[in-house]
Amino acid sequence: RDGSESSEKRVLLLKPRGFCAGVVRAIDIVKIALETFGAPIYVRKEIVHNRFVVNELAEKGAIFVDEIDQVPEGMRVIYSAHGVSPAVRQHSKDLNLKVIDATCPLVTKVHVEAVKFAKQGYSLVLVGHRDHDEIEGTFGEAPDVTQIVSSAKEVENLKVPDPNRVAYLTQTTLSLDEARDIIHALKEKFPNIIGPHSQDICYATENRQTAVKNVAHNADLVLVVGSNNSSNSNRLVEVSRNLGTNGYLIDNSEAIDPAWLETVSTVAITAGASAPEILVEDVVNYLRQKGFGSVEEVEVMPENVRFGLPPEIVQAIASAP
Ligand code: SF4
Repeated sequence: RDGSESSEKRVLLLKPRGFCAGVVRAIDIVKIALETFGAPIYVRKEIVHNRFVVNELAEKGAIFVDEIDQVPEGMRVIYSAHGVSPAVRQHSKDLNLKVIDATCPLVTKVHVEAVKFAKQGYSLVLVGHRDHDEIEGTFGEAPDVTQIVSSAKEVENLKVPDPNRVAYLTQTTLSLDEARDIIHALKEKFPNIIGPHSQDICYATENRQTAVKNVAHNADLVLVVGSNNSSNSNRLVEVSRNLGTNGYLIDNSEAIDPAWLETVSTVAITAGASAPEILVEDVVNYLRQKGFGSVEEVEVMPENVRFGLPPEIVQAIASAP
């Protein structure tokens, strides 16, 4: 390949991409807890949905478990960024666990709304993916009055005691377009349905999708760095494909099939909210080696959100020697 040919191939690096404020906070919590209290510290579920992050923290002494009964009595446990149900909190109490809650404040906001609507006597429709940790937690706030829907089609089958007392909430990491369609279907079926004060889909999910929407038409391929159980990462691939630009979800550069690049001259790269920047750099370096000589960062909007640490961690830092 001569230089002129390779200089035609380019990478557009989308911004904002990667870590959101809730993920930064959750990872900081585990790291600070390990430094302050020492290993082992248990973490219920993957702290964030990224294999690389989980492996790194496991090497530092975090022990990841699926359920609370895998934590020995009296030990310290961290809840993941996706939140937990009241049943899990009770279970921790029963086992005398020392709890540190890394639930993202934007997930907690949805829990608070669920409790409020249930107390006011509403039937609750939770728009989201049944098998996702976040939905399991939110559902658990009011399981007797909550139904989960994940498509406009499923809305048709909903049955509630009083169609005039229905409220909806959504998962924080849905596709904005898909959620809009489902909410539209809900409003058709229940004209008096009420929703949250502000949308539950979080700023990070929205911004990353907006960035893909702005740039996908300038690219031949969109690569989304993220793990396959990451909801917001999967949605980024869908957004791109829905716009007609092929996209793939990749954990790192090893997941790239060289055949994808054969007829491609512009690759856009983004990363889900739980994917570390080091993996984006790995993908960019791989593409450079494949002749994608120009790398241009495209900032679609600024993003400067930060969340404070939970009191358990602030106190631990304050009382550390
Ligand atoms: Fe919080 Fe959104 Fe990040 Fe989830 S994706 S941890 S809701 S900021």
